[in-house]
Amino acid sequence: MLIVMKLDTPKDHLEKVLSKAESNNCKPHIIYGTTKIAIGLTGETRSLSLDDFMTMDSVVDAMRISKNYKLVSREVKDETLINIGNHIIGDGMLQIIAGPCSVESRTQLFDIAGELKEMGIRFFRAGAYKPRSSPYAFQGLKEKGLELLAEVKKEFGMIIVTEAKDTDTLQQVAEVSDIIQIGARNMQNFSLLEKVGQIDRPVFLKRGLASTIEDLLMSAEYIVTQGNFNVILCERGIRTFETATRNTLDLNAIPVIKQQSHLPIFVDPSHGIGMWDKVTPMAMAAVAAGADGLMIEVHNHPEEALSDGFQSLTPKNFKELLLRIEPIANAVNKKLDLTK
Ligand code: PEP
Ligand code: MN
Repeated sequence: MLIVMKLDTPKDHLEKVLSKAESNNCKPHIIYGTTKIAIGLTGETRSLSLDDFMTMDSVVDAMRISKNYKLVSREVKDETLINIGNHIIGDGMLQIIAGPCSVESRTQLFDIAGELKEMGIRFFRAGAYKPRSSPYAFQGLKEKGLELLAEVKKEFGMIIVTEAKDTDTLQQVAEVSDIIQIGARNMQNFSLLEKVGQIDRPVFLKRGLASTIEDLLMSAEYIVTQGNFNVILCERGIRTFETATRNTLDLNAIPVIKQQSHLPIFVDPSHGIGMWDKVTPMAMAAVAAGADGLMIEVHNHPEEALSDGFQSLTPKNFKELLLRIEPIANAVNKKLDLTK
């Protein structure tokens, strides 16, 4: 159930609504929008009637949400803006997260971070814990990788995005990572989603390999119901019958999610197509379709990369990508946010 209240609702009116919900075994989630306050109720909402709330002071509307996700639904608010560092995710900004697939060494990480910073990139990605399909593939430098990311953060002032692979290492990751990535293979690891929902850090939630858009939104709902509203969704390609590319980048997800949810949506064309020479056109298409940001894998020596080298752009090619997407961003009224 969703209760809509005036933006200037006095505290006592708000408290009456909250206590009515709580005394009926419902959990209220307060969501402040730009024009209204929405209160999403989860739990035993069937025992409540809409009229119970409609007659209360400062309430302008009450409705039932029949979808399988509620708090991430567009009915609750128009857009989630996430402030991080001096940057905003959402609000017409186009943000770029770039970096290598994995942390491999201090030199590798520092060289790439240095080049990206020069280009105005502030969101730096690199996996310390790597959930790989094969147990024999490089699994990441783990704690050492986190230490190196902490050094990059200190040295270059980058905003770090790195993956939390399981609940055991989540806390460690949260100490270094400014945005916690949940990978495609973990999109439906519900214990991990609930735990990350209790941490005060934005979450970058990647769509599962064989998950529908609705599955992605329901996974986001698991995080949000724990109190963490700062979720960034990411389309990174899904499995289809097509074998010419690594995955099929489902750009349909962008306008669909924009209509269904208030959460920002990023696109990762690197994993989506899996071939470095085709990343730029798909990045351009993602921006044209309205993505709030991109995640791009960049490596200074792709041929030596310990993971995903074939889909990684060199810094030179990445610079070209930035030049190509900027006019497209402007054409869709977005501003490419580079720190110059
Ligand atoms: C990654 O970002 O390097 C990664 C492993 O992505 P995904 O979870 O989308 O496969
Ligand atoms: Mn990768």
